[in-house]
Amino acid sequence: MPEFCDVAVPVPLHMVLTYRVPEGASAAVGSRVIVPFRRQRLPGVVTELHDRAPNVTAKTVLEVLEETPALSEELLRLGKWISDYYLAPIGEVFRSMLPLNAEFRRARVCRITKEGHAALHLAGSGGSSSRSKKKPEEQDTEYRALNYLAMRDEAREGTLRSATGITPSLLAGMVRKKWIEREDVSHVTDATRTRQVAVLSGGGGRPRPLEEVAVTSLGGRGGPLPHHHDRVGAGVHARPTSTPELPSPPKLNSNQQLIIDALTTAGGKLPVEILRQLDVPRSTLATLVKRGLISLAAEVIELPKSTVNPRGIPAGMEFNSAQRAALDRIRTLVDERKFAGILLHGVTGSGKTAVYLAAMKSVLDAGRTAILLVPEIGLTPAVAADVHDIFGNEVAILHSGLSDKERAEHWHRIRRGQARAIVGTRSAVFAPVANLALIIVDEEQDSSYKQEETPRYHARDVAVMRAKFSDAAVVLGSATPSLESYFNARKHRYALVEMPDRVEKRPLPEVELVDMRQEFQETGNEQVISRKLIEEIRLRLQRNEQAMVLLNRRGYSPVVLCRTCGKKLECTNCAIALTHHKSSRRMECHYCGFMASVPKHCAACGSEYVYFLGTGSEKLEELLHGFFPQARIARLDRDTVRSHADFERVLNALNAGELDLLVGTQMIAKGHDIHGVTLVGVVGADMALGLPDFRAAERTFQLLTQVAGRAGRGEVPGKVVLQTYFPDHYAVQYAAQHDFTGFYEKELRFRSWMHYPPYSSLANVMVRSAKLDETLRWSGALGRWFEKTRHEGVRVLGPAAAPIERLKRDYRYHFILKSPSRHKLNAVLRAMLAEAEKQKIPRTNVIVDVDALWLM
Ligand SMILES: [Zn+2]
Ligand SMILES: [Zn+2]
Repeated sequence: MPEFCDVAVPVPLHMVLTYRVPEGASAAVGSRVIVPFRRQRLPGVVTELHDRAPNVTAKTVLEVLEETPALSEELLRLGKWISDYYLAPIGEVFRSMLPLNAEFRRARVCRITKEGHAALHLAGSGGSSSRSKKKPEEQDTEYRALNYLAMRDEAREGTLRSATGITPSLLAGMVRKKWIEREDVSHVTDATRTRQVAVLSGGGGRPRPLEEVAVTSLGGRGGPLPHHHDRVGAGVHARPTSTPELPSPPKLNSNQQLIIDALTTAGGKLPVEILRQLDVPRSTLATLVKRGLISLAAEVIELPKSTVNPRGIPAGMEFNSAQRAALDRIRTLVDERKFAGILLHGVTGSGKTAVYLAAMKSVLDAGRTAILLVPEIGLTPAVAADVHDIFGNEVAILHSGLSDKERAEHWHRIRRGQARAIVGTRSAVFAPVANLALIIVDEEQDSSYKQEETPRYHARDVAVMRAKFSDAAVVLGSATPSLESYFNARKHRYALVEMPDRVEKRPLPEVELVDMRQEFQETGNEQVISRKLIEEIRLRLQRNEQAMVLLNRRGYSPVVLCRTCGKKLECTNCAIALTHHKSSRRMECHYCGFMASVPKHCAACGSEYVYFLGTGSEKLEELLHGFFPQARIARLDRDTVRSHADFERVLNALNAGELDLLVGTQMIAKGHDIHGVTLVGVVGADMALGLPDFRAAERTFQLLTQVAGRAGRGEVPGKVVLQTYFPDHYAVQYAAQHDFTGFYEKELRFRSWMHYPPYSSLANVMVRSAKLDETLRWSGALGRWFEKTRHEGVRVLGPAAAPIERLKRDYRYHFILKSPSRHKLNAVLRAMLAEAEKQKIPRTNVIVDVDALWLM
């Protein structure tokens, strides 16, 4: 075993730390270890084993958690790539790749110090700290605690308190006196839930020598688990025939016989807790174990999951020629067992999901594994049901609603090879599968694939890299591909597969634009819902058809304004207007969650003329109730949907025809396939066009296309009424004409002129601090450094106040860096971080966002 190991520790450091491998321990590259770091114990991942002694004395690894690496070679390599590409600290990258938080329990332990020993000694010899004004009983308690600690290396704080009756404040005082020290310690528990099972040892009650009895305990964490089924099966079926040399079975008493009978009936194995329900003394089981008739074993409890066996692709799933062609292309590329990128561009309703599932099925049939990534709210109940039907218990569904514990359990299940079809959101790209053949990224343009905290990776791009490292195929699917992916396909980096028609040749919906400026002139009123949209909804209700109305802004009124002094009501933490939420009777900041009561007077001037302006989804729902009092209306946004279950309930109700109208934010636009919806109204989807962000047009085009795609997926053709204040904008025009290529051509020209992605690599560097002067000083210093160093081939814009100048109490200034060379861009960012360190700017106050999606 090499003497040293390099460990990536989850702290904001761009390096690994060298530790000494403890005597006799065997660590592997990719294993998790617990290491001392400053005054903490932290879990880290071993990145290298070597014999190079570091310059400083290396501390020793405290605990090796596993001999089988938690991260495979492939995932280690992927993590290093992420760390390099996104300039993210390697330890933090590995931490987000391993969803095993549940396995770490944190506890605070106390230890006695030299000073503590001295104080205890002094007390014992009759002396005392004379200046103490403490009551005698408090002193007694303190010495009791010291005494308790003196007898052991350390004790958990909770144990110490209950054993000695010491209070938190006395304990804090002892820490101040340096008598004891406290430390937060993490220790590891295996998240895999196990239960004890009793297993019949041999030929139905025949005694066997003790050493043959398989008493299995769970060995190394995450290693392959013993297959009890096999052992039991062999034992039950391979009854010894005639073996006269064996002694005849010993007599069993009736209690013992009861247990043996129960086990035999159950096929040789039962959980101990079930046997305990039999009316026999507890000692009976122990006796049977002692006699070698039964063995006890730990067995992994599987997650509650569908018990359905895989049924394969439903018979009704008949493929049209475009679907078949797409599937054939994917299968061919998968079979080549080398990297292949495929952009699957299929219009809304063209049946992409069916192609994904069929492709995954053939991968599983070949004994390999597949991952399907879906956006945050893309996993609709219908898709989940299909996935269960097709893959049965070989599927693992990973979504944001899981607890840490469930996440860890799924992780182990996947690692054991029990789940080979993985369906999940962003972080499922790190699923510890072996023999990966295919990754599919559904709605690849969706912004929820980008993690907006360290490490700031984009799961689509990570999926592409993972496929490269595994010689697998990656399919990026969308009705509205991102500019980047479309550009890559045009440059032949990806194969482009098109599905231009809806299934069964259903037509794309007709889109009618309503110019809201004209609506205002004709009605003399600022309308939320145009006359045209009202009329179309009324028609649908009469015909018992369903409609959806999109307003991509939640709450009741987005702006509260004083008409006397003109002041807007803003969040105290952010430079953001507070939104009025009527039913919950409060003002809310949608960026930091700050809440305030609804004002009756202006806080600045005291005026009573406080006005509530604008419309959010909550108000839209109320207005629709007013127009259509008979209609059954539901709303889908972050205020009405708090869990996956809420989401499912509303969509199921719509699907079952229990709703006439569904109102909501972009949540209603994503991937639902509801056949009764024949009308989609868009009330405010072009608001984004006013934002100072170069992706505004792309986002608007995508949202309009996605939501329009919800209409007319059944027998009856669909219609879209699109209200807009920008009827001439190309994003609106091309969306109305379902003209993807037209939009992309125009947008690509604009990106090329402005040197924006995909024509250049881009990074957003945000300097933030709760103190404005620090933000100014730091961003100023970095600005001067950028100017002085003048990096060839990299444009630096800024420092400038960020569009949202204050967010979550931080003042924010930013730089935008652009370069045609990814390599040069990252070199400058690295140098900038080194300079920031030299300037003593804390690492957490400089955010580097490579391929930033939002520049706000
Ligand atoms: Zn005022
Ligand atoms: Zn706020």
